[in-house]
Amino acid sequence: MSRYVYDFAQGNKDQKDLLGGKGAGLAEMTNLGLPVPPGFTISTEACRAYLAEGAEPDVLEAEVDEHLRALEERMGRRLGDPHDPLLVSVRSGAKFSMPGMMETVLDVGLNDESVVGLAQQSGDERFAADSYRRLLQMFGTTVLGIDGAAFSDRMDAGDLLDAEQLRAVVEDFKAVVRQHTGRDFPQDPREQLRLAIRAVFASWNTPRAALYRRQEQIPDDLGTAVNVQAMVFGNRGGSSGSGVAFTRDPATGDQGVYGDYLSDAQGEDVVSGVRNTVSIADLAELDRSSYDELLRIMEVLEKHYRDMCDLEFTIEDGRLWMLQTRVGKRTAEAAVRIAVDMVDEGLIDEDEALRRVTGEQVGALLFPRFAPDPGRQPVATGMSASPGAAVGRVVLDSATAVEWAARGEHVILVRKETSPEDLPGMVAANGILTSRGGKTSHAAVVARGMGRTCVCGAESIVIDLPNRRLTVRGGPTVAEGDVISIDGSTGEVFLGEVAVSDPAVVRRLEGQDVDDPVADAVVRLLGRADAVRRLAVRANADTPEDAARARRFGACGIGLCRTEHMFLGERRGLVEDLIVAEDDAGQESALTGLEPLQRQDFTEILAAMDGLPVTVRLIDPPLHEFLPDLTDLSVRVALEDERHVEDEHDHRMLAAVRRLHEQNPMLGLRGVRLGIVIPGLFDMQARAIAEATADRIAAGGDPRPEIMVPLVASERELALVRAQLEQVVATVADERGITLDIPIGTMIELPRAAVTADRIATVADFFSFGTNDLTQTTWGFSRDDVESEFFPAYRDHGVFPVSPFETLDVEGVGELVRTAVRLGRQTRPDLHLGVCGEHGGDPASIHFFDEVGLDYVSCSPYRVPVARWEAARAALG
Ligand code: PEP
Ligand code: MG
Repeated sequence: MSRYVYDFAQGNKDQKDLLGGKGAGLAEMTNLGLPVPPGFTISTEACRAYLAEGAEPDVLEAEVDEHLRALEERMGRRLGDPHDPLLVSVRSGAKFSMPGMMETVLDVGLNDESVVGLAQQSGDERFAADSYRRLLQMFGTTVLGIDGAAFSDRMDAGDLLDAEQLRAVVEDFKAVVRQHTGRDFPQDPREQLRLAIRAVFASWNTPRAALYRRQEQIPDDLGTAVNVQAMVFGNRGGSSGSGVAFTRDPATGDQGVYGDYLSDAQGEDVVSGVRNTVSIADLAELDRSSYDELLRIMEVLEKHYRDMCDLEFTIEDGRLWMLQTRVGKRTAEAAVRIAVDMVDEGLIDEDEALRRVTGEQVGALLFPRFAPDPGRQPVATGMSASPGAAVGRVVLDSATAVEWAARGEHVILVRKETSPEDLPGMVAANGILTSRGGKTSHAAVVARGMGRTCVCGAESIVIDLPNRRLTVRGGPTVAEGDVISIDGSTGEVFLGEVAVSDPAVVRRLEGQDVDDPVADAVVRLLGRADAVRRLAVRANADTPEDAARARRFGACGIGLCRTEHMFLGERRGLVEDLIVAEDDAGQESALTGLEPLQRQDFTEILAAMDGLPVTVRLIDPPLHEFLPDLTDLSVRVALEDERHVEDEHDHRMLAAVRRLHEQNPMLGLRGVRLGIVIPGLFDMQARAIAEATADRIAAGGDPRPEIMVPLVASERELALVRAQLEQVVATVADERGITLDIPIGTMIELPRAAVTADRIATVADFFSFGTNDLTQTTWGFSRDDVESEFFPAYRDHGVFPVSPFETLDVEGVGELVRTAVRLGRQTRPDLHLGVCGEHGGDPASIHFFDEVGLDYVSCSPYRVPVARWEAARAALG
């Protein structure tokens, strides 16, 4: 029994950790009795050992020999035999798919002698010579590290070359190898195999693979498996070919045959998008029996995996071979459609459907689309490779895309076709447009994986790189920097900026009558999500419009109504007056001006959320957000003085701004501190809340306000403020002759609050975790600055994979949350607990909040469906 090498028949689909995705799929298909060329998989464990030691494990060579011998026996041919050679492919295959990021070498075993044998056995000299030149080219670039251009420059008209000419290319390529490496191309087939395996191991750590992993959050320490498999040839003339297929449409989820086929070609030709493909449906015309066999296999695979599969196949001389299968990547639209269809087909239940679609995918469906306009004419049309709508300036190469995006531009990367080298530009771009290649080309696969809008194969576009422009045949010329709009759902390309509108799911959630299967599927599964989740979902909303939208999107209340936002705009002057007031009378008059406005705000929000809880947070403004900038104001006053213009307001304001100026306003006079220093402010807000509640009751409504005090660090602060607030509420209740029962709670957003939560709970009816400030104060990171400053370096150095402001830092901030939950409930077992920081809408964080037993999460209105979905997935485990 080998330690590192497994025959295909020894594995199964659940061994992706060990055998990689491709190896596990080949094993599963082999055991299902599907036609798979025999071979073996070298495990990820061997790769990890290689990466750790810089050399293959000692036993690996002997194990590969043993499996190679078994393979030779089965095939009745020897690797590189001069008369009738066995040739093998050597392919990477990690646990998670990394399309095109790692290496593959085909036709290993060919050399100056075996190429003659291959020509004789196949009776096709052209095919043998072409296979040899492919090996030289792939081996040269991937194993020997020679720049691909050194080969491809000589192969432009490759399709048209005859056997004689291809033999000349082979000699040429051997010379390229000699010239670039100082040695001859290795003729020993076993050496070829050894070096190819090593190159695949090493390709795990290329910069582009590492970048892709960072982008897709794939762990760096997994390593890749290596699959060594008997070659079958799609490039043996018209009755051969290669294809990629999906058991359902990965862009829309539609049922039916779907994919690309290229006759007289190897798989690499299909996915690279270098030659344009025909659709799988056309294969029925070309080779009916292979087409029927493919359909049969697709059905077997779908039933077996109970999911949409993608697959790669090769037809050699009319015989179909399976080279790969896995559960296929799909767009968000397709994911929900397929999940719901499979429920209806009895393949899975609704809970499984929820597990299969991520909250993030649901979120993608809430992105805007181009507004429908039948009059708008596209300048070009390609394939709808990855949906969405993207608008941006045309950029013609990856580096420019990265550069322009870094300065805040929205860009569309336009390429003839993309290759893995383009990945940084694809990451930076809003959308991707190519003039060549099909829906399974590199551009399409990678864009779909990243959720980027992509249009592929817009053939009327001709890219003129030297002049940094593109022309549309029979149409306009577009210079780099001009704005275009691309529609990844229709494949249309428009000049200029096209307005975007809400997608069908949003329109449906907004209550409009839309006929759209994706919207149907989302709404149906959200219903199930609501039935299984433990966490309630509220929204962060501070206008009546947002509150109403949140409710339509399924929020069961408001978890955070930030009142300082209500003081911006034209009301800012009143707040300035309040802050700079020099005496009680001045303060009183500013407050009197604000109260009716606040009361109106609250009345409308309580009406929009009638019957549901509305947590109003008392004002928490870092003062710098409300006062003029000290430098600007100083300059203005100095200029006025110079011109002997006396502006009393400006002078008073300057004195106040100087008095109140803080070096660290985020750590300054905000939250509960402001309430203690300017008591009238919180009183005014409490009165406005109480009055609005009374007004709603009088109007027959069911208002459920809660008052939340921010930035509390000690129970004494909260006790002081609470007494004051209770008194105001009691006074209003008396005046209006009603009973008012308004819970008063606090935010836990400082570490001190978290670790003294047992005492704070004696004076709080509820806690809401303000994880934005809690992250800021736990790490000591300024939430205003650090994300653009040094977080990129922190991510590169692996301090954290994602910003802790985005996904909760479970080890640090999360531990404080756990502590506060435990201590708080120790004092008050019925303490109601929620979270209102940005993490409330983040999928990974939601799983944590579910696990620690919070009652609700609160997030922005558009994230509410995401949170409902993800909370269900957390509950389902
Ligand atoms: C928080 O700190 O997490 C919070 C919700 O409050 P704000 O973002 O308004 O400071
Ligand atoms: Mg806060």
